[in-house]
Amino acid sequence: HTRTRFAPSPTGFIHLGNIRSALYPWAFARSTGGDFILRIEDTDLERSSQAAVDVIIEGMKWMGLDHDEGPFYQMQRMDRYKEVLADLVAAGHVYPCYMSLVELDLLRDRQTAAKEKPRYDGTWRPAEGKVLLPIPDGVQPVLRFKNPQSGSVVWDDKVKGRIEISNDELDDLVIARPDGTPTYNFCVVVDDIDMAITHVIRGDDHVNNTPRQINIFKALGKEHPVYAHLPTVLNELGEKMSKRNGAKPVTRYREEGYLPEAMVNYLARLGWSHGDDEIFSREQFLQWFNLDHLGKSAAQFDEAKLRWVNAQHLKASADEVLAPLVQEQLQKRGITPDARLTGICALFKDRCDTTVALADWAVVFYADVTPTEAELSQHVTDAIKPALSLLVGKFASCTWDKAGISAAIKEVLTSCGLKMPHLAMPVRVLVAGTAHTPSVDAMLALFSREIVIHRLKQA
Ligand code: GLU
Repeated sequence: HTRTRFAPSPTGFIHLGNIRSALYPWAFARSTGGDFILRIEDTDLERSSQAAVDVIIEGMKWMGLDHDEGPFYQMQRMDRYKEVLADLVAAGHVYPCYMSLVELDLLRDRQTAAKEKPRYDGTWRPAEGKVLLPIPDGVQPVLRFKNPQSGSVVWDDKVKGRIEISNDELDDLVIARPDGTPTYNFCVVVDDIDMAITHVIRGDDHVNNTPRQINIFKALGKEHPVYAHLPTVLNELGEKMSKRNGAKPVTRYREEGYLPEAMVNYLARLGWSHGDDEIFSREQFLQWFNLDHLGKSAAQFDEAKLRWVNAQHLKASADEVLAPLVQEQLQKRGITPDARLTGICALFKDRCDTTVALADWAVVFYADVTPTEAELSQHVTDAIKPALSLLVGKFASCTWDKAGISAAIKEVLTSCGLKMPHLAMPVRVLVAGTAHTPSVDAMLALFSREIVIHRLKQA
């Protein structure tokens, strides 16, 4: 039974690069019939916020990344970490270290000067026959983990392949602060054990933590999970995507008119692939997803591509699904649409790439339009005005549907000896505010007869 997790730190608003680290473990759990767990890593009290947690939960909900357990909050599990810490102490895997921050700085300076990698030198690590320094007065020690001093840590990373790190390269990690609170790498291991996580799929910014975490698993007598470290997501400038260089919170894409299905599709492809398949549904993705086709190199975000993917999903979406989303956009502009909105979506979705663009079209049905002077003078010429007034007369009495409207237009074209565009263009400009609309009869049928006549009379 597979169990995966998403373990975000709520220290800023979750962006696309972050939520991709939720998408893959979610997809893996769903496609293998396993469980997906949400764990909020909120131990950095200074930088964590409830607002950031809200965006994580809202963003995941919007994208349909449902979790089976959680959210668990690390701050609420402190007692549990302390309990496991006590076990580690009792088993002799941990020792107090009294080295002060000043001494640590000096050590680091010495090592840097000697061109060595800065690392704790094991001064306070007890060993047979070793005499430790006298314990300084009034100093609360940190607790350090006795990292093995020989051998190496090896794992078969599902993205990076076999990784082997010699224990020489790992110093004795601080696992509890002077006030007794456990540190990050230790909490993660306790959580992954307690939550019975079988597959850790996370960003490769954590790959350096993994050998340390594996050693803690071993000390606790547990098997470590399978790891898959995902390459970074780069922004359009080729920098690591981060809120500091302008990455948008995930929820912003909802506001900007993106569909959750399109986001899932786009992000799925940003670091994973299924041959050349570009546009697919959530269901299809879950059928195809596996860890073998995760990309090995950094993926670059491309907003134009995302818009294109969104347009494809918009076209393929049922009008009944789109209408409430467009309604949401219209309500932000103070417009409450009616039942016509479904038909409006049907008529315009092919030419839109977001629900915001669809709402821009829908607006012409619910608010006054102001055609530009340029369009008016180009299309609504004095020569066409007699035909327009004839059309107003026909519209006053024809059957008000697509066929009735079409017949009325044809009658005017015939009696005035005009061609379709001569009449259709000014009608579009006057009624919809622009000459670039879909077929005029289908569009007019979505307006009321009164509005159409009123707008034509403006000429
Ligand atoms: N909290 C970490 C982060 O937001 C993730 C840790 C993990 O997945 O193990 O980067």
